[in-house]
Amino acid sequence: MSTKDYVEKDYYKTLGVAKDASAAEIKKVYRKLARDLHPDKNPGNAEAEEKFKEAAEAYSVLSDADKRARYDRFGHGGLGAQGGFSGFDPQTFGDFADVLGDLFGLGDLLGGGRRRGRRGQPGSDLRYDLELTFEEAAFGVSRTLRVPRLEVCSDCSGTGSAGGTAPATCRACGGMGQVRFQQGFLTVARTCPQCRGRGTVVDDPCKRCHGNRRVEEERTLEVAIPAGVETGARLRLSGEGEAGLDGGPRGDLYVMLHVEEHPRLRREGPHVLSEVEVTYPQLVMGATVEVETVHGPMPLDIPAATQPGEQFRLPGQGVQRLDGRGKGDHVCFVHLQVPAPGDLGDEEKELLKRLAELGGKPIRERRKMKERVRDLFG
Ligand SMILES: [Zn+2]
Ligand SMILES: [Zn+2]
Repeated sequence: MSTKDYVEKDYYKTLGVAKDASAAEIKKVYRKLARDLHPDKNPGNAEAEEKFKEAAEAYSVLSDADKRARYDRFGHGGLGAQGGFSGFDPQTFGDFADVLGDLFGLGDLLGGGRRRGRRGQPGSDLRYDLELTFEEAAFGVSRTLRVPRLEVCSDCSGTGSAGGTAPATCRACGGMGQVRFQQGFLTVARTCPQCRGRGTVVDDPCKRCHGNRRVEEERTLEVAIPAGVETGARLRLSGEGEAGLDGGPRGDLYVMLHVEEHPRLRREGPHVLSEVEVTYPQLVMGATVEVETVHGPMPLDIPAATQPGEQFRLPGQGVQRLDGRGKGDHVCFVHLQVPAPGDLGDEEKELLKRLAELGGKPIRERRKMKERVRDLFG
């Protein structure tokens, strides 16, 4: 088991367009690709079907101005935060029905039925939701998944008949899988209700699968989660979905990642954000404080005359970028800790009183007040 299939492809390359391609251009190129790669035009061609899925995925992102902007800035990580294509179901191709509808229309619907008969029934894709800790997502981890999935029944070799004998031809449809009947002037064909379109029936069902031809079995899979993933990211384990029937291909397994929140750290793509509490004297005079990063505590120099809320960057102390281009930064916000008088000793209170009496004039307060009032009520 490897994650070389990790869905981390360059969407522009997938569609074969330039990074600055216009929306109209992307749509045009995609329509051509979808037409050429459509499963109806390439029966039994698994590679074309794979490319078809990839093109659809790329188009679902690049055709959406908002998703595209985030993808341009943050790569696949940018799609994670808002779910990416968690709503994208590779089995139904629902996302681009609008694009394909006018191209294939009814022919596509009829094609679906024919396809099944020719190349067997493909196994379903499976979804597995995997929880990761903040650290596991940051550094990557190897996890063992137990996946219940349908496998071809070994007792009957997937025939559904006891002893693995070949099932009998359906008498209702004569093995055609369809029955025809007259409706006015029309002859209408519909799926045979006796054999559900399979063309065969099982007279003596297999004891293990009860004629269902597949049984649920639990599989143990080792999966390597790369460093830098985020909630909403998806790993595709090719061919680890359910078994197909009649020579149909296996489905894929999609591992949807959910990353736990950290009590003090927050991810923003490859960057990690935190807050550090400092005192008034530290802001005024400058200080070296300790900052918690994913790589452990690090010293941060705060210069003299730092304002509360200012942010400082520790370059390269964030999380590994998914595309391998180094690490993000750690960004630390300075938060002024104002103690309650009860938390102070007598000497500290004396000093504060004296400080207040000496009075230093506020530097930017007048102008700032206006802005704050505007923020509150404006
Ligand atoms: Zn069986
Ligand atoms: Zn039948």
